[in-house]
Amino acid sequence: MVPGSGQLRWAKLAPLFGVLVVAAALVGILHPPSSFLALIALVFFGLVMLYGCFLAWRLLGAWDLAIKDLLGQQSALEVECDRHRNALDELADGLAIVIFLTDRTGKILYANRAAQDAFGLGEPSGLAILGVTISQEVNEMVLQAASGQPARRELVLRHPRDRSYVVGTWQEASVEGRVFISMVDISELRYLERVRRDFVANVSHELRTPMTTIRAMAETLQDDDPEDQELRPRYLSKIVREVDRLTTITDDLLILSTVEASNLQKSEVDLAELLRVCVQQLVPLATEKGLVLGYQGPYCVKGMFNGDQMTQVFLNLIQNAVNYTGRGTISVRLMDRDDDILVEVEDTGIGISADQATRVFERFYRVDKGRSRASGGTGLGLSIVRNIVEAHGGRVSLESELNRGSTFRVSLPKT
Ligand code: ADP
Repeated sequence: MVPGSGQLRWAKLAPLFGVLVVAAALVGILHPPSSFLALIALVFFGLVMLYGCFLAWRLLGAWDLAIKDLLGQQSALEVECDRHRNALDELADGLAIVIFLTDRTGKILYANRAAQDAFGLGEPSGLAILGVTISQEVNEMVLQAASGQPARRELVLRHPRDRSYVVGTWQEASVEGRVFISMVDISELRYLERVRRDFVANVSHELRTPMTTIRAMAETLQDDDPEDQELRPRYLSKIVREVDRLTTITDDLLILSTVEASNLQKSEVDLAELLRVCVQQLVPLATEKGLVLGYQGPYCVKGMFNGDQMTQVFLNLIQNAVNYTGRGTISVRLMDRDDDILVEVEDTGIGISADQATRVFERFYRVDKGRSRASGGTGLGLSIVRNIVEAHGGRVSLESELNRGSTFRVSLPKT
């Protein structure tokens, strides 16, 4: 505790009483008749001076303690500040949002980890935001914010790769001329929007074709022209075919949306048995085309799957193999591995070129539209396969060579 102002006043008076002691001593020496009075004054002033010195000594000791205490508090505050700064850095580094702090000219003072990753930066401090983002718009937004006008805009940055961001810039409240930049990556969102738009356009297109045919046939039948009488059965069977086609498309669309929307219900399934049943079901179709279709693998391999969805996957793959193979064999193989189960569907059919192979899993993508339609395909089969397999935590891949055949591989975790 620091002593109060009374003690301080006494301590301050100590030198004055020191002077009075000297004065009393001089009076005693220079004027002997007053020496007794001078002695009393000397003793009195001397005692007061000693008391003042004592207080001054105590004060110095107390101040020393108080200074030590303050220094301790200061270093504790510094530690606390460091802790907060580190916590802020960790928070900023943990965010998926890109964050920069720049000076008023756009020179980077700080960049969080997401910013460093997004723009491939090593030590970002000192670099210009224009050089890092290669975007005049971002640079202008920073300058605008530095002059007190916050900004927010959606931008497509081309560097280091095409990404869509919602960019925000605003001035730091406590330090004028320092600008925060936040960039939220919305590329995925924009991509999904594009996919949804394309999907709706594709569905409309796929539905419109059979509907146009049905309408044309129905109108012809409506005319009831006697010359068309013998064509009636042909028109009617074409209408039925197109309605079947519409039904197949809507069925496939329903399967797709069910797979995407629902929680996967798994139960113990013997995949070997399921594959044998699928093969059995399609052997007549294959035999009709002169193809040999068979299953090779263990008798029983159990795992946790959605049985209906797995049946859908393998019927799609085997049916495709039959559809796109002119002659030869289709082999369905199962391998029970340590961590997963691998199923291969191999055919000796028309094959798929490397550039098409990456696209065949897209919705409505067909290499040969006419051929797919002729075999009753919708262009959704492989997309359904991929969705189901990925919902099970598995992977589907394709190895193919044009005019030699294709092998679709499905790997599935057992649990
Ligand atoms: P589709 O209903 O047209 O068969 P899929 O999604 O099942 O649709 O397949 C997409 C496209 O991939 C097919 O149109 C076809 O061109 C190609 N394809 C699929 N499986 C095979 C295969 N086993 N051999 C050759 N091409 C195939």
